Amino acid sequence: MNNIIFGPIHSRRFGKSLGVDLSPGKKQCNFDCLYCELDPAKTITGQDEVLRVVDIIAAIKKGLQEHEDIDFLTITANGEPTLYPYLNELIDEINKIKGSTKVLILSNAANISDVDVQNALLKFDEVKLSLDCATQKCLKKLDRSHSGIDVENIKAGMLVFKSKYTGPLVIEILIVKTLNDSKEEIDKLNEYLLKLQPTRIDIGTIDRPPAFDVQPVSYEKLLEISHWFDSRLPIYIASRKKATISASSYSNEDILETLSKRPLTQEDIDVLCDKESQIRFQKLLENKKIKPVSINGVKFFKKV
Ligand code: SF4
Repeated sequence: MNNIIFGPIHSRRFGKSLGVDLSPGKKQCNFDCLYCELDPAKTITGQDEVLRVVDIIAAIKKGLQEHEDIDFLTITANGEPTLYPYLNELIDEINKIKGSTKVLILSNAANISDVDVQNALLKFDEVKLSLDCATQKCLKKLDRSHSGIDVENIKAGMLVFKSKYTGPLVIEILIVKTLNDSKEEIDKLNEYLLKLQPTRIDIGTIDRPPAFDVQPVSYEKLLEISHWFDSRLPIYIASRKKATISASSYSNEDILETLSKRPLTQEDIDVLCDKESQIRFQKLLENKKIKPVSINGVKFFKKV
């Protein structure tokens, strides 16, 4: 049962997080995404290798004893965690023993219109759902969803879930070259996300070798895509593929103009601005022309 728990992983966003894998034996997923880091596998609608709740709880207790001060328990799977049939019972049991540790679930959202799944997810401290595509054609091609999974159903389910959930709801969009990086697809995502109003939207690209021969997009492209979204949406560029762009010189006006279109993180500023521009940025911050805002643990800078 040792392989149920992995980590801890340290991150600025989640602090010290311990992973909980609800399918440690094999990939069990209702998607077979082209960018998946796991080997391709036949899609399923229910797990056939199912862990017992008591064993997961025992593994979590052991993990929390072995690693002190865990900030987050991240519920995930080699596949899709909402396919675990006892998710509701599991989260009840975790909530009894977690103490001050928060519980996050990472899901591909394929089951979000299922009321039982919604009821289980409502009990999590934070929910992160993927939404790579706003159209069925894209979902079928990129996420290779199980037959019968309908993107309109996913979108409707997310809206219902959001209307009931009071915790942070983060949407993750993974951009893959030529598959979902067109203006047309992003416009449709934008239109939907304006209705959903999630707490934050993370856009990223392929960071690790995927199962199929698909390509990441550059940081420049992610930046361009971030500008295609409505500036009211809290977009965070969450990709590590940032090193390809060369830093440029920005005047005070350029900096303010850029930030009025899209709030940026310190990481973005470091990548985009040369040394002198970074000093100008600091001065603007000191002079309160720019202000920091925190969106669900991520610090952005925006024009005052
Ligand atoms: S949803 Fe996640 S686990 Fe399932 S195929 Fe896609 S990337 Fe892999």
